Amino acid sequence: MDVLSEVAAGTPGRPSREEAEEAVRVLLRWAHEDPAREGLHETPDRVVRAFEECFSGYEIDPVAVLERTFEEIEGYDEIVLLRDIRVESRCEHHMLPIIGKAHVAYLPGRRVVGISKLARVVDAYARRLQIQEKLTAQIANTINDVLQPRGVAVMVEAEHHCMTTRGVHKPGVAMVTSRMLGAFRDDAATRRELFAMIGGHPPGA
Ligand SMILES: [Zn+2]
Repeated sequence: MDVLSEVAAGTPGRPSREEAEEAVRVLLRWAHEDPAREGLHETPDRVVRAFEECFSGYEIDPVAVLERTFEEIEGYDEIVLLRDIRVESRCEHHMLPIIGKAHVAYLPGRRVVGISKLARVVDAYARRLQIQEKLTAQIANTINDVLQPRGVAVMVEAEHHCMTTRGVHKPGVAMVTSRMLGAFRDDAATRRELFAMIGGHPPGA
């Protein structure tokens, strides 16, 4: 048994890789294609690999990502902001791409976390089937629960391909969501400082 089959076998009810590839062949036939023709021969394998990448977030534990923190921060107690983090997700209604960026900020309590960890938490939740509102809240809530900072702010701005390439066909439309906790929610001056650091305008302002 190869590694992937073992992983599959370890998740009750998870179909095998062969079953996943067969499902792609069914969709190809449904789209009036012949999965046996030369150009499509490798396609089920490629689609399943692409799925593994798009949905790799299910195998990342965001809490574990944030658990390694640093306490020697010389009393640093100002905003820590990671700006313009690339977001690649998939909407849970159409499984089409949601592409955009996130800004993640927090006001440290006693601990800070490596900045790459914030980006990894974004990936952990983005690389799943999502709706943008839930993605935004999950990132903020997890940082809040694990780091217990004085405040957390997460903003996501993204284009939804289910709206740009199908349905109403409105390219260039960005959806903006935000979740503010602690000082970012309660204190207007802290929020203004954040927006100045981001260099844009707050959602809804
Ligand atoms: Zn959608």
